[in-house]
Amino acid sequence: MNPPKIPMSSPDLSDADRQAVIEVLNTPSLSMGPKILAFEKAFCDLTGAKHAIGVNSGTAGLHLCVRAAGIGPGDLVLTTPFSFVASTNVLLFENAIPVYVDVDPRTGNVDASRLAEAARDLAAGGAKARKWLPRRGSGTNGRLKAILPVDVFGQPADMDPICQVAAEFSLPVIEDSCEALGAEYKGRQAGTLGDYGVFAFYPNKQITTGEGGVIVTDDDRAADFMRALRNQGRAVGDTWLQHTYLGYNYRLDEMSAALGLAQINRFEELSAKRERVAKWYEERLAEIPGVETYAIGPATTRMSWFVFVVRFDERIERDALAQRLEARGIPVRPYFAPIHLQPYMVERFGYRAGDYPVTESLGRRSLALPFSGVMAEAQVDEVCSALREELQ
Ligand SMILES: *Cc1c(COP(=O)(O)O)cnc(C)c1O
Repeated sequence: MNPPKIPMSSPDLSDADRQAVIEVLNTPSLSMGPKILAFEKAFCDLTGAKHAIGVNSGTAGLHLCVRAAGIGPGDLVLTTPFSFVASTNVLLFENAIPVYVDVDPRTGNVDASRLAEAARDLAAGGAKARKWLPRRGSGTNGRLKAILPVDVFGQPADMDPICQVAAEFSLPVIEDSCEALGAEYKGRQAGTLGDYGVFAFYPNKQITTGEGGVIVTDDDRAADFMRALRNQGRAVGDTWLQHTYLGYNYRLDEMSAALGLAQINRFEELSAKRERVAKWYEERLAEIPGVETYAIGPATTRMSWFVFVVRFDERIERDALAQRLEARGIPVRPYFAPIHLQPYMVERFGYRAGDYPVTESLGRRSLALPFSGVMAEAQVDEVCSALREELQ
């Protein structure tokens, strides 16, 4: 196996970004100082949200939203199996039950009309409700408590019909926008379309803090509560050793916040570079038979490219193809692997192949190609030429 010639992903760091981190190290404030406040303010400015709360990962942010939404043991939450595991895991942390709704094959986002049907059936109870629940292990109280859609690959979920269902059943919506910073849905910012939104900053995301995340919400009480939980359960007015709530250490340190602030101030530049790479891919891939890209729906008024994922015709053996590409030094990743078929999910809930056929089909046929804002056109050429040759 050759070492990769092209990295799978790469952060886009400037000298000024690096300098911003060094400057923090020349001060005594390494946690809960001015940088996190400035980083949070930048998110309020970017998204128009009333509150932004910095945390040390996207997963931590989603978990705090689950707590703020009052999701607890046995509660049912409508969500998608075509995602990164974190969107499900945060429900399991609180012993809530993810209720999966299969996705739209064009975009990979949750199918909003199917989600409405699930909500109605769950409200009706009995046999109608049971067909949406896992085969075993649910231990549910039967109460539908929230909706957790995911903005897949940088494209917002179809949030208007989802929020309509939420309003009909008085459910909070937690929007997992960890892949969609800066994306827009009908001109509105991803992450602000539900009650809570979360962004993430692992090094492959649109901006990075190393590890990190931000929650946005307009809800004053929830914001106070999540700030307290992030900081070991210390409520406003608590001293260092007073803990009103059971909390966590989900704080984002000042070095990370400084890097994030420098990056978010370059957001338009970073975003334009990713967009340019995506266009290079789209032009070249359009000419390769058997390969298609995910559709960008009409409600997506701005795409925020996170990864570049293609899917193949059913007749193409994706895994063998991936191996041949890797052998040529082109790194690729199957993306996503359906959550319900992960070993711990099968063990706990008894899921089987065939339970969510659209998700499984996308999971079998999809492949993420090397992608970042710092990729050169010649590298995109190299990936696409290798793909074309291996498909012949
Ligand atoms: C990246 C990501 C997260 C959060 O990941 P962290 O590594 O915890 O920051 C959550 N959901 C989705 C869909 C993601 O892609």
